[in-house]
Amino acid sequence: MKVRFGPAGRPLGYRGSIEGVPKYLRVTEGLDAFEYQAVRGVRIKEVIARALGEEASKYDVLLSLHAPYAINLSSRNKAVIEASKDRLLKSLLAASWMNARVVVFHPGYYSGFSPKEALTSCIDALRDVITKAQDMGIKGPLLGPETTGKLSQVGSLDEIISMCREVEGCIPVIDWAHIHAREKGSIRDKESYMRIIDIIERELGDLVKNLHCHFTKVEFGDKGERRHRTLSESGYGPPFEPLAEVIVEHGFNFTIISESPLLDKDAIRMKDILIRTYSKFKRKEQS
Ligand SMILES: [Zn+2]
Repeated sequence: MKVRFGPAGRPLGYRGSIEGVPKYLRVTEGLDAFEYQAVRGVRIKEVIARALGEEASKYDVLLSLHAPYAINLSSRNKAVIEASKDRLLKSLLAASWMNARVVVFHPGYYSGFSPKEALTSCIDALRDVITKAQDMGIKGPLLGPETTGKLSQVGSLDEIISMCREVEGCIPVIDWAHIHAREKGSIRDKESYMRIIDIIERELGDLVKNLHCHFTKVEFGDKGERRHRTLSESGYGPPFEPLAEVIVEHGFNFTIISESPLLDKDAIRMKDILIRTYSKFKRKEQS
């Protein structure tokens, strides 16, 4: 079992350069993953991205990159799809500079299409992105379509799995809070997590062992996700403890990116919960 934890974006209270983040996470906070945020556009310079990658490898911090929010692979407007593909390609290029494992992105909106039409449009666009990336000689980073939190967005668990089955070079990014919000509070206990994990295993096999995940508590309404909540706020799900138990019992190697308003602070909290769960599990095994 090798589980990594880290924040989605700069740690709170950290004021240094972006290249300094891996050292800060590892040395000051004991964390080992970092999701670089390019959500308002991919602007990082190659030299900086490479320096970030070198620091990450030096401190054994696994990098990922969150692509711009302005992506819609199932728009009615062809120009929007082309611009979206372009943003994904730019994200893949920047991710390759920093040696990131995966480019995380929200595939798009139904835009008045049927779910099936929207999914087909996303799959076609993603195949095109992969071909173009190969033509450009971009090697390394995978594409990670993420389960999305709003009902207007393409990105149910089934849709994300279909994209990963249909497009080589795609791995699912499991945002547990988004699934919880989309499904109106479906994640309550170990069984709820296992239901999802079993589906992923059945459809995608061994990929399930190394999932890239997002975690936060979430407030939701009729249309899905409303806002992220911290781990200590009561009255919101999903709960982290049962996920920690599932991870420990199955020996999964998940990477868990904290998207809580407390980012790295809640990443540390989740890591502590996992360590406690692991010790309890070991004690039980020995007795
Ligand atoms: Zn996201």
